[in-house]
Amino acid sequence: MKPLIVVGGGIAGSSLAYFAARAGIQTILIDAGKHTASDVPSALINPVRGQNGHVVEGGLEGAQFTFALLDELQKQGFEVPHSRAGVYRPVPDEKTFLKWVKNLPEGYPHEWLDRAPLQTNLQDHWHKVLFLPVGGWVDGKAFCTALQEASKAQILRQTAVSIRPDGVVLQDQTFLQGTVVFCGGSHGATLAGFAGTHRRGSLLLLNDTLSPLPVSFGIYATPSRKGGVLGSTFETPSTECRPYGLPLSSLSWLMEKARLTFKTLQPDLSGVWTGVRYSGATLPEDLLTLTALGSKGFLLGPKLARDRVEQTLIPLLHQ
Ligand SMILES: Cc1cc2nc3c(=O)[nH]c(=O)nc-3n(C[C@H](O)[C@H](O)[C@H](O)COP(=O)(O)OP(=O)(O)OC[C@H]3O[C@@H](n4cnc5c(N)ncnc54)[C@H](O)[C@@H]3O)c2cc1C
Repeated sequence: MKPLIVVGGGIAGSSLAYFAARAGIQTILIDAGKHTASDVPSALINPVRGQNGHVVEGGLEGAQFTFALLDELQKQGFEVPHSRAGVYRPVPDEKTFLKWVKNLPEGYPHEWLDRAPLQTNLQDHWHKVLFLPVGGWVDGKAFCTALQEASKAQILRQTAVSIRPDGVVLQDQTFLQGTVVFCGGSHGATLAGFAGTHRRGSLLLLNDTLSPLPVSFGIYATPSRKGGVLGSTFETPSTECRPYGLPLSSLSWLMEKARLTFKTLQPDLSGVWTGVRYSGATLPEDLLTLTALGSKGFLLGPKLARDRVEQTLIPLLHQ
């Protein structure tokens, strides 16, 4: 049987390698480790998105799957900092509230609060607060590292300079033959010349958390392993991965939004993290892919990876 070659070691590629190796498929994961969006220090796991309260299809199942996977890793001795205490989504006015109410399917687990719980540190002006009990946050890098180690896949810290459905050429010109799945995210799509939308976003890294419970509306604040983060993906979309440059004007926008959102704001900054997310991709039809997860990598990535292994890779590789 030819090996499976996974290009990219973010949440998509690491999850794919984990489930493939667990299914007995010989797996090689190639990861350049550059501009990895999944290195995000704290990612929200949130199934109701954006400022229009869009309910992500499969988001609830995706979130439950991600938390079950974190439990599975913990049983194997991997400690990935995370929380599943739910997510708080404040809405500013009655119009937005009514729109969000309409979006929520019957039986969807949620609760509307008339006042923000004290611990969220939210300002009093918020109209109502949606509490989603199936949600939380996770340390992205620790999650991917645990999946890679637990997978026991062969890991090559290199760049694949040419990617074909039946093999890749590495930067040292070695050709590796196998069934390739492209999970290269924004950096990989730019290297390979695949079209799509790339959006940079930044997080302020805080020594303490602004809210011990994850909060999101336009911006998000969550705890993290080292304290907390305050962030958003608000840069102008681009046609390629542009990871460089300190986004100063955007950071002042972020601070202004945070001032309007939270009661007390004395951020004790320890740094800034910037990443680029990838969505709206046009990918070669003959290449297997799991990419362009936009801002939902940790919500949907692990479950999509498991489904891809069961529905496509096992039948294909065991032919
Ligand atoms: C500021 C910000 C905040 C975010 N917040 C959230 C959030 O709250 N919740 C959430 O779910 N998601 C969030 N995301 C999005 C999430 O991070 C992405 O959806 C997800 O990380 C994408 O994962 P990926 O595996 O597809 O790609 P990536 O994580 O980018 O991984 C791709 C990897 O492949 C490697 N690679 C690419 N090409 C090659 C090649 N040719 N050879 C070898 N290696 C290669 C890259 O170097 C990289 O390491 C956020 C993103 C940003 C930028």
